[in-house]
Amino acid sequence: MIKPIKLKINSSSVKDFKEGQPLITEAALKEKHVLKEQGAILELLDEKGQFVAKGYYGIQNKGIGWILTKDKHEKIDQSFFERKLKQALEYRKSFFQDLSTTAFRVFNGEGDGIGGITIDYFDGYYLINWYSEGIHRWKKEIIQALTKVVELKGLYEKKRFANKGTYMDDDDFVLGEKSPCPLIVKENGMNYAIYLNDGAMVGIFLDQREVRKLIRDKYAKGKTVLNTFSYTAAFSVAAALGGAKKTTSVDLANRSKAKTIEHFQMNGINDEEQDIIVEDVFQYFKYAVRKGLKFDMVILDPPSFARSKKHTFSAGKDYPDLLEQAIQITEKHGIIVASSNCSTFNMKRFKDFIAKAFKATGDQYKIHEEYQLPRDFKTIKEYKEGNYLKVVFIEKIS
Ligand code: SAH
Repeated sequence: MIKPIKLKINSSSVKDFKEGQPLITEAALKEKHVLKEQGAILELLDEKGQFVAKGYYGIQNKGIGWILTKDKHEKIDQSFFERKLKQALEYRKSFFQDLSTTAFRVFNGEGDGIGGITIDYFDGYYLINWYSEGIHRWKKEIIQALTKVVELKGLYEKKRFANKGTYMDDDDFVLGEKSPCPLIVKENGMNYAIYLNDGAMVGIFLDQREVRKLIRDKYAKGKTVLNTFSYTAAFSVAAALGGAKKTTSVDLANRSKAKTIEHFQMNGINDEEQDIIVEDVFQYFKYAVRKGLKFDMVILDPPSFARSKKHTFSAGKDYPDLLEQAIQITEKHGIIVASSNCSTFNMKRFKDFIAKAFKATGDQYKIHEEYQLPRDFKTIKEYKEGNYLKVVFIEKIS
């Protein structure tokens, strides 16, 4: 085991950690200690050398580690991980009982007491996401703890720390039995295809579960729906099942087309009645404006950052522009579902983006509802950045 390192921290950080703020940043450290081995346990001390909290060293996009406990005597070992996992499973008991949904998050990083790691459940299979080399150093203990507290068919992992949080292309299978390819999971009765060993993204984003349900149950009926940045078209499936007149899915990645067709087919939707377009969304908007196309519902769920041949999109800067274009091709009384998973701005600022875009087009709007992360994506109030998802249902009034 790597030797614990005692570190003095500055007084404002003492207060923050005592109040439950879990992220360790370089700025919190009083002395520039030579931190070498990621995964090392850090004992953080106040100026007088009194114990404040214990955490681990692991370099991520933000921060250099996470607090694990404020109890001086609590050991960080396999049984520590077992306790945290058990608590997390207990919190999600109702998800395991609901047979109409077989894919959800069972452990959500700092929200469940250990930053830098998430675990998702897919119908008996588990997927661990490691966000730093530091937490990955604890792989043996964490996997032993997991296999003690759950019965798993198979285990997969994604190492997301090659270069500032990007995914390392690897064989992601860890142990147990290999999952079918695709593995078909249910979400509120809908079918989705999951590929656990095919790159960074597995097929659907679990944090949008409630938004998909809402689109299906409340907004889609009889509507023409444009789903931009559609990926595997999970939103289009929900809309089609909710009785949409027609869906149009636009994504520039070639692979999205086959996966979209597969998703329609496994839900009994005739894919030939739906439009599936492989194109840059920004080009498509231009085309739609030129042709005078309008939709009753436009879904915007772009990545936080994307670069295509002709366009660079950064949500924190370009979201108002994206909205402006969407407004132009939305029917009067149509709905725009504006979503962002970008953690650099919060809901309040996102609503400012919406106001700015409508001001620019000169249209009126009304916000119908707002969504943030679902219950299984547990967050804590002491770490607001963890609550990254923002989804707003906006009606274009005029
Ligand atoms: N909304 C999706 C998830 C989007 S993931 C869902 O709910 O499942 C981001 C997707 O955006 C990727 O599939 C990527 O190929 C696509 N993308 C990124 N930049 C794009 C662009 N300029 N035009 C079209 N698609 C883009």
